[in-house]
Amino acid sequence: MNSAEHQDLAVIGAGPAGVAAALAAADAGARVTILDSAPQAGGQFYRRPAAGLGARRPQALHHAWGTWQSLNARLRAHVEAGRVRHVTDRHVWFVERLETRFTVHALIGPEQTEPDTVTADAVVLATGGYEKVLPFPGWTLPGVVTAGGAQAMLKGGLVLPGRTAVVAGTGPLLMPVAAGLAAAGATIAAYIESADPKSLARHASTLVRNPAKLAEGAQYGAALARRRIPVRTRHTVVRAHGTGRLEAVTVAALDADGRIRPGTARRIPCDTLAVGHGMLPHTDLAQALDCTLDGVNVAVDDEQRTDVPGVWAAGEATGIGGAVLSRAEGEIAGLSVAARLLGAAPDPRVLSAAESVRTRLRAFFAAIDTVYAPPAHWAESVTDDTVVCRCEEVTAGEIREAVDGLGAGDLRTVKLLTRAGMGWCQGRVCAPGVAGVAGCPADTARRPFARPVPLDVLAQPGNPSRNEASHD
Ligand SMILES: Cc1cc2nc3c(=O)[nH]c(=O)nc-3n(C[C@H](O)[C@H](O)[C@H](O)COP(=O)(O)OP(=O)(O)OC[C@H]3O[C@@H](n4cnc5c(N)ncnc54)[C@H](O)[C@@H]3O)c2cc1C
Repeated sequence: MNSAEHQDLAVIGAGPAGVAAALAAADAGARVTILDSAPQAGGQFYRRPAAGLGARRPQALHHAWGTWQSLNARLRAHVEAGRVRHVTDRHVWFVERLETRFTVHALIGPEQTEPDTVTADAVVLATGGYEKVLPFPGWTLPGVVTAGGAQAMLKGGLVLPGRTAVVAGTGPLLMPVAAGLAAAGATIAAYIESADPKSLARHASTLVRNPAKLAEGAQYGAALARRRIPVRTRHTVVRAHGTGRLEAVTVAALDADGRIRPGTARRIPCDTLAVGHGMLPHTDLAQALDCTLDGVNVAVDDEQRTDVPGVWAAGEATGIGGAVLSRAEGEIAGLSVAARLLGAAPDPRVLSAAESVRTRLRAFFAAIDTVYAPPAHWAESVTDDTVVCRCEEVTAGEIREAVDGLGAGDLRTVKLLTRAGMGWCQGRVCAPGVAGVAGCPADTARRPFARPVPLDVLAQPGNPSRNEASHD
C-alpha cells in the first residue's frame, strides 16, 4: 500500500469547490493534499480536453475560462512550492475517522485495484453532484445520453454524441448543453423543457440580485435563438424510438397538472437525445462518516463544517448551485479549516466577500429549484416493459408487481423483492426512477463505501472493512 506523508488537510474533489478550498487553506499556510478521480483538476464545470488531444482553443466550449486560468495558475504555484499535493486518478472509497485524524482510502487509476492512502488532520468533502435521469420508454437505446454526459464528451473528449440532437428534460444545465452541442456543429432539432420558466417571474426580486446569473441565462438564450433552435417549454419526451439505436423521439405538451395533453404528441427524427432531470449531491463519503444530511444535501454550518468534528463539506455535495457558489463555499471551508487547525475562529473580514456570494446564490438556486422540476405525473408514461434499473434489468412492471402484488411500501423492500438498485451503480442512477414508479419516497441510500472495492484491498490489514462494512 502506498502511504503518503501526513497532511494538515485532505480535500476530496478537485472541482471548483475543492480547488477553492485547497487554495484558501494553502494561502493561509496549511499543507494540503487534493485527491480526485479525474486525470486533471477542474471538476465538471472546468472539465478540459485530455492533454493528448492537443486542443488549440479549449476555452471555446467554456464559460468563465479566465476564472479557471487564474485558479489553475494559483494551484500550480502552490504545487510547485510544495504546499499543495494534487493527486490525480484517485477514487476515494472511504474516509476513516481515527481519534484525532483521518485516513483517506483511495483506489488508483482506471483499473481501481491498487490502494493508496492519505492521512490528514481535517477533511473537506468537495465531491460535487451527479445527474438525475428519470426513465421513459426507449431510454436505454444507444444514442440516448445524459445532458451532462453529452457535455462531458464535448468538453473532455472534443466529440459530439451525434449529428442531430434533441436536448430535453428540465433544469438550467440543458442550456449550456444545447448551446455547446450547437456551437460544435450538431443540429439541435428541439430543446424540450418540462418546466415553465415564466414562473421565475414570481421570484423576480431574488433574480435581480444576481445579475451575472441572469446575464449568463440571457447569453445562452440568445445563442439558442441565433441558431434558430426550436424551444418548447411545458413539453416532455414521451418515448425514444429506434431499432438497435435511436432514430426519433416523441414529445408532447403538458397540462397544468403535469400530465400529457392528449393529441399533442409529435415525433422528431434525431440520432441523439441528451436528457437530464436535475442533479443530486454526492453524499456517500459524508454518510459513511456519519455526517448529518439536510434533505439530500450534506448539512453544514456557516463555516461549511459538518456536524462531524474535522470534516467540512463544500460545493454541490451540500446542495446543487453551480460553479460560482461552489467556489465561494470552497473558499469559506478552506479559510475555516486553516483557522480551526490553529485553534482559532476564522477572521470574519476575510470570509465576508465569499459569504455574500453564498447568500445571494443560495437564494437564487432555491428559486430555480421551485421552478425546474420533472412533470408531476412522469411515472404514468413509463410502460411496464420499460427497464428502470439498468444494472439488474428490472422493469417497471416488476416494480409495480412488488408494490401492488407483494405489498412493498418503501424503496428498500422494492429493492429486496426485485433487485432494483442492487447492481454496480448501487441505485445512484435508478433510485429516483424506481421510487417514482413504485410511488414511494426516494430515501437517501446509505452506502458503506463510495466506490466498489476489490476484496483483496478490503482484506488488507489496517483497512476499515471489518469495522465499517456493517452498514446497510
Ligand atoms: C456531467 C456534468 C456536467 C456538467 N456540466 C456543466 C456545465 O457545462 N456548465 C455548468 O454550469 N454546470 C455544469 N455542471 C454542474 C457542475 O456540477 C457545477 O457547476 C460545478 O462543477 C460544481 O462544482 P463542485 O466542485 O461542487 O463539483 P464538481 O465540479 O462535480 O467536482 C467534484 C470533483 O470530485 C471528484 N470526486 C467525486 N467523488 C469522488 C471520489 N469518491 N473520489 C475522488 N474524487 C471524487 C470528481 O471527479 C470531480 O472532479 C455539470 C455537472 C455534471 C454532473
